[in-house]
Amino acid sequence: MSSPAQWTLTETRDRLASREVSSREVVESVLSAIERRNRELNAYVSVNAEAALEEARAADERRARGEFSPLLGVPIGVKDNIAVRGEPCTCASRILQGYRSPYDSTVAARLRAAGAILLGRLNLDEFAMGSSTETSVYGPVRNPWSAEHVAGGSSGGSAAAVAADLAIAALGSDTGGSIRQPASFCGCVGFKPTYGRVSRYGLVAYASSLDQIGPLTKSVRDAALLLDVIAGRDPRDSTTLDVPGLAAEAALMRVGAADLRGLRIGVPAEYFVAGLDPEVERLTRAALRRATELGAQAVEIRLPHTRYAVAAYYLIATAEASANLARYDGVRYGLRVAADGILDMYGRTRAAGFGLEVKRRIILGTHALSAGYYDQYYLRAQKVRTLIRADFAAAFERCDVIAGPVAPTPAFRLGEHLDDPLKMYLSDVYTVPVNLAGICALSVPVGRTAAGLPVGLQLIGPAMGEPTLLRAALGFERERERPS
Ligand code: GLN
Repeated sequence: MSSPAQWTLTETRDRLASREVSSREVVESVLSAIERRNRELNAYVSVNAEAALEEARAADERRARGEFSPLLGVPIGVKDNIAVRGEPCTCASRILQGYRSPYDSTVAARLRAAGAILLGRLNLDEFAMGSSTETSVYGPVRNPWSAEHVAGGSSGGSAAAVAADLAIAALGSDTGGSIRQPASFCGCVGFKPTYGRVSRYGLVAYASSLDQIGPLTKSVRDAALLLDVIAGRDPRDSTTLDVPGLAAEAALMRVGAADLRGLRIGVPAEYFVAGLDPEVERLTRAALRRATELGAQAVEIRLPHTRYAVAAYYLIATAEASANLARYDGVRYGLRVAADGILDMYGRTRAAGFGLEVKRRIILGTHALSAGYYDQYYLRAQKVRTLIRADFAAAFERCDVIAGPVAPTPAFRLGEHLDDPLKMYLSDVYTVPVNLAGICALSVPVGRTAAGLPVGLQLIGPAMGEPTLLRAALGFERERERPS
């Protein structure tokens, strides 16, 4: 029999509910998996073994008393940029060394209220800036399927942990692809919700108009379940949307076998161009072909402003980051480097505390916002953002979901893009448009390369399109599991 660490979230929940297994056994199983593989993968940066076992014991008692909550006694991993009261929140940066969160993020509070055990903190690119988890102060996360390859980023720790069964499920954050791309590289499901669907309260801000928290899971149903728990209006985040609850998992249960039938899948010409790895293209097209065999309809669409998305994203994201990261000055958080006066202290602390990539972005963003350049860079990027949003709006007149690659390549080699930031930025071409438009998207595994590296398919939905997206993803997932 498989060990509990290998179970999906819904499976774990169901087996706990039927008392087939105790929470203690589940937590122990996950802890021993971490013990076995975390040194090699570097997915967790800290683990609360003692506290988790204690919470598991309490959860088992509550269940014995007949209590029920949807995630009672289920261990979940959290990306190290999401606040959990009393725990470190380092964002994989030296500047937050020693800092502990004084409060719970809304997602952490909701997970706890649902009974979940927040087991440990997951590695990421410093302040979530990157696509490979190589800018982490803790060192890179390794791809569970090949030690020489990256896990993707910035939620590389979350994706690797879920894919290697070091977590039942995890939370990540996605500003320009950081949930979807590592999910694709590691072979799990990664869901970036519509902007405003999930509260950002307690998520360390990178680029506030783009950031969104979402699940990384072993199955589509798991993503729906986790989304149900974390989504919803939050008075502490005024950008959250006041819309009815999702009940996404329940909706998926009602879906029959032929869930792809009648679905109009938009296929953007701009997503299948030079630079797309032939194996990624082959796997993507094969998945689409199977979908049409099952009764989905492929519709050719155009997203003409795609080619400007990376440039616009890297102006807007860095501009917002330069403002958001101004708060790390040695006064209130983490690191403080001793100096003669306060200005000197600011300078020394920031020089010593931030890594190279973070500094590069603060400088870029500050430049883009500076007098005389603002109109040329920031304002223009905002105009492009509007055009990209309009592209999607026009496309969704003709289709229900859009399908394409998540990234131009499978997981690349460690170090391959590290000394060429532009190359790294360009690899975000398929994911950043979604964040610029504020819509939702996910990555669902569709196959593996000859070398055994996983490849995900990106499905993009309109704002509030989560139910359709999940239904479509379930169709692709089932199709893949069907013996051929
Ligand atoms: N790779 C993108 C960046 O570096 C996206 C990161 C993210 O989504 N947090 O900004």
